[in-house]
Amino acid sequence: MFKWTAEKTAQITKGTLYGDPKVEVRGCILDSRQAQGGEMFFALPGERVDGHEYVNAAWEKGAALVIAEEGYFKKRGQIPRAPEGKALLLVNSGQEALQELARFWRIELGAKVVAVTGSNGKTTTKDMIAAVLAQRFQVYRSKENHNNELGLPLTILNAPPETEILILEMGMRGLGEIKALCDIGKPDIGVITNIGTTHLELLLTQERIAQAKWELIDALPLEGVAILNAEDEQSVRKASFDSHVKLFYGLSEELISPDIQGSQLGPEGALGTKFLVNFREQKEEAFLPLPGRHNVLDALAALAVGTAFDISLAEGCKGLRELELSKMRLELRPGISETTLISDVYNANPVSMQASLKILRERAMENKTIAILGEMYELGSSAVSGHREVGQTVAELGISALLTVGKLAQDIAYGARMAGYPANQIYMFDTREEAVRKARDLLTDCGPGTWVLIKGSRGMRMEEITAQLERSE
Ligand code: ATP
Ligand code: MG
Repeated sequence: MFKWTAEKTAQITKGTLYGDPKVEVRGCILDSRQAQGGEMFFALPGERVDGHEYVNAAWEKGAALVIAEEGYFKKRGQIPRAPEGKALLLVNSGQEALQELARFWRIELGAKVVAVTGSNGKTTTKDMIAAVLAQRFQVYRSKENHNNELGLPLTILNAPPETEILILEMGMRGLGEIKALCDIGKPDIGVITNIGTTHLELLLTQERIAQAKWELIDALPLEGVAILNAEDEQSVRKASFDSHVKLFYGLSEELISPDIQGSQLGPEGALGTKFLVNFREQKEEAFLPLPGRHNVLDALAALAVGTAFDISLAEGCKGLRELELSKMRLELRPGISETTLISDVYNANPVSMQASLKILRERAMENKTIAILGEMYELGSSAVSGHREVGQTVAELGISALLTVGKLAQDIAYGARMAGYPANQIYMFDTREEAVRKARDLLTDCGPGTWVLIKGSRGMRMEEITAQLERSE
């Protein structure tokens, strides 16, 4: 994290400074409640609350400098007075000031930057890259899901001066957004996990989705490295027109032979996976404390980033064994009546839901399986077909019972029915409470050994279902 004076902050942002110009500032927060002492607090206009209402609260909690928008106070005809030994900086746009400061610190820091984008698995891959690179370097990564026009600059500003490699997650909803994030983060290495169909409603065509993600590769310097998924059709297609050094990773050779190749996956332990990985003359046996083919793909991406920094597969695999993930993705919990819950409540789209259903089937082995699935948002015109595809997978995998939550999720049930899934194994509910009541009965009836998947979009708050089905130890 940077350490400089209020005066210097004013110079970088070209704002107007009030109060003590010499006060030292370090660290950056967007929520006044997080102040511990010495930070700069950005008063930003938000959807629900306006940060400008918390200017005094931020100072009181210890923030040294408040950066706020001139327009807000002009309208009210009064500028707040900074307490003794603190400062206020007025700028045109708080967001632009945040980004300008991040741009400045990115250069000062001099760290290498790895950026990760893609339709699925960005956060997972970011965390895995950190685990691999931490074997040899001081790394700093985006917290949780901080991947947008605010979260990304915030991450950069909070990176400690000793950071050698900064790992940034980049999210996007439309063309130009990754380009704007790259203009701040200036990545040296770019990872695209996959080019899928999550943001269809805003981007419409595959080509435009691919182009929007490819802005990351376009932003790399000449000597930059592109880390790409050898199984992703769009990535392979776009790569054929690109002149950067490229490293492909993957488990299959169908489209292109991967540089970092995984093979022979198998389950290991409760939720773990073992696999072999090859890179040139190196060969390693890897263990990942997570289930599912898609997680192994993300792990291969992380090992590929490692090789770009001369980290051997052996070293990288050591990091993966000790992986620490951001919260709420695929957690294993003990359920009532000696059942096992797979709680994957962070978010959902058709691809990730189908992947999680496969994990449920694979881990349960011969035991019974129950899927409690909530609505998936942001699918635009593919909302109906997306839910139905998931239903088809439920039928194909022979899941013992399907519970759907919410109106949109009824199409999961419909898709399952169309694929021949028995009607008497389907239960549809409008609310979480109703679903929980039925689920508790089903778990008790199915009894010990049963595996249960709980998944839905973030807004469905499926974790509240998990909480009701958990066994108290
Ligand atoms: P967001 O857009 O919300 O930031 P993200 O891209 O960061 O999402 P993660 O949070 O890592 O993605 O994972 C989201 C879901 O996608 C998880 O439920 C996981 O099961 C699934 N997933 C992870 N990696 C992949 C992958 N390579 N392919 C498909 N699905 C994946
Ligand atoms: Mg994410």
